[in-house]
Amino acid sequence: MAQILDGRVVRDEIEKKLKAEVEKLDPKPKLVIIQVGNNPESNTYIGQKVKFGEKIGAIVDHQKFAEGVSRQELLSKISKLNSDSSVHGIIVQMPIPKSLNKDEIIEAIDPQKDVDGQNSINLKRLMENDQSGFTPATTKGIFSLLNFYRIPVEGKYVAVIGRSTLVGKPTALAMLNHDATVTVAHSKTRDLKKITKLADVLIVATGKAKLITADHVSKNQVVVDVGINVVDDPTDEKPETEPSGRKLIGDVDFEEVSKIVAAISPVPGGAGPMTVASLFENLIAAYKKQT
Ligand code: NDP
Repeated sequence: MAQILDGRVVRDEIEKKLKAEVEKLDPKPKLVIIQVGNNPESNTYIGQKVKFGEKIGAIVDHQKFAEGVSRQELLSKISKLNSDSSVHGIIVQMPIPKSLNKDEIIEAIDPQKDVDGQNSINLKRLMENDQSGFTPATTKGIFSLLNFYRIPVEGKYVAVIGRSTLVGKPTALAMLNHDATVTVAHSKTRDLKKITKLADVLIVATGKAKLITADHVSKNQVVVDVGINVVDDPTDEKPETEPSGRKLIGDVDFEEVSKIVAAISPVPGGAGPMTVASLFENLIAAYKKQT
């Protein structure tokens, strides 16, 4: 059985560290989460962020807008938050309705407050290995998880499956910055198994439940499963099941793959909690830059 890379343990460590830091800060760091519409999964993710923020003593202001909010109203809100010195971080919870231009909205956030590291200035800094930017929270979380379990990536062969701007691309760039040799695979990649089997560290972020099976992996590998897929499970009554009768699974067939590889992060309880903790690490860093 593989070693479990337990994101909840690492999250709790980060929580303790941040709580001690925030206790000494006055005024308290403040994060504004903008949500457009009422996507149930977004509600869950925002709930986790609000809970973590409360635990460390930060202020989290969840601002919800109707599905039909105009571009002008949203941009004017972001502009006000940019110039509000009591606000240190701003994130727009994705997805937002297709009627809005996602890039335009993200670009409107002051790069100093862009604690999700999604606007072009912060992504360019990541590309240039300029430490002054904010690394996207999921990418940062993957590194904190690997660091905690003393898994260096320098000189290793890392395969990142998925090439989104949110997860795959920034993770691949950060891996390069940490001196890994990187391959990025996607839906058009031929012979995925050949790539995944060779990797020392395999990062999977596709949103395709159980895409990675026993046939894709080999022993001595480290697997980080970023995927979150909600599937039906009428027998499941665990608290993670929201709403009941459904459960979360990753992009990796955990049961089969964990019998082969050296280490693996579970879903839930792996990359997910790390993303939340990393977001607040970025918030505290943003606070320090602004005060
Ligand atoms: P996107 O849908 O934006 O991107 C998915 C990527 O996976 C695309 O690049 C796509 O390729 C690739 N892909 C899809 N099917 C295959 C396949 N069969 N083989 C190889 N590659 C494939 O998703 P995100 O990056 O935003 O999210 C990925 C997953 O991570 C989701 O499950 C999401 O819920 C989860 N997530 C988890 C977070 C956490 O905190 N743990 C945070 C953010 C996301 P192509 O580009 O060719 O379409």
